Amino acid sequence: MTAQIAHIDPTRCTGCGRCISACALGLIEFETRDWKKRSVVQDPERCTGCGDCAERCPFSAISLIEPHQGRRSPL
Ligand code: SF4
Ligand code: SF4
Repeated sequence: MTAQIAHIDPTRCTGCGRCISACALGLIEFETRDWKKRSVVQDPERCTGCGDCAERCPFSAISLIEPHQGRRSPL
């Protein structure tokens, strides 16, 4: 069975940072793009798909996807 990985929708992320402290593996970091601070999963290969970050996000910006879907380019 393929493990899922976390995917952060940059159009919904407000940069609140809750997911960063939620990830026990420290895989999520801030990235600044177009003058906006957003979270990204820096090391998706290490993501266990535990879902802790998705649960913590108040804006439903994080979903768990199949790894091959991660290649879709974000907006
Ligand atoms: S918890 Fe959600 S809105 Fe907040 S930084 Fe993480 S992905 Fe963005
Ligand atoms: S699903 Fe779990 S391991 Fe993956 S980024 Fe979120 S909190 Fe970290």
